Amino acid sequence: MGNFYNDVICKDSRFASLTRVNDPSLLEPSTRRLVESIVSAAQQMGIEVMIFETYRSQNRQQELFNNGATKLRTVGVHHYGLACDIVRVAAGEPCWKGDFSFLGQLAHSSGLIWGGDWGAPEIKHSFVDSVHVQRCTVTRQGDLFAGAWYPDEAYNPYHDAQHLFTAAMKAGAIKHPAKAEVATGRSRPSKKQA
Ligand SMILES: [Zn+2]
Repeated sequence: MGNFYNDVICKDSRFASLTRVNDPSLLEPSTRRLVESIVSAAQQMGIEVMIFETYRSQNRQQELFNNGATKLRTVGVHHYGLACDIVRVAAGEPCWKGDFSFLGQLAHSSGLIWGGDWGAPEIKHSFVDSVHVQRCTVTRQGDLFAGAWYPDEAYNPYHDAQHLFTAAMKAGAIKHPAKAEVATGRSRPSKKQA
């Protein structure tokens, strides 16, 4: 069965791009629709934002890793067209400063997971990426990266039973010692490469 990653991303000339890609057409269609609705809602709130990065290649991830801009050698959800970094605009330039809680609110109401809380605001996260939104839960990432899962049009991460279980577990509502250290995945020094 085809999906956007196999059918579009893998065949795109930018598949191995070393430069940053901010083209929304490399976002999976539902992700793109939600991202664009978030951008216009932010503008309506009087907050100027821009899509900073959509798709990211493994080559670019490796380069960022080599440059010390990320601690992750392997590319994440951006590679699958399911994540986007949305930054503020200040004097025409991308800006990571300021309060991004509006992005959390818009992401939540759109059905995207926000990197500011990873869909689980009730717990304290060791890694926060407040410009990042993605269309799958952190719990789903392993299957996504393994090629075993890709969201369909109707998928909503907040209705994902696996996600709800993990969130409850992290909050202490469910005890599961073997999974007590479920990582929210990432730690890196520069927000600009998130
Ligand atoms: Zn990101």
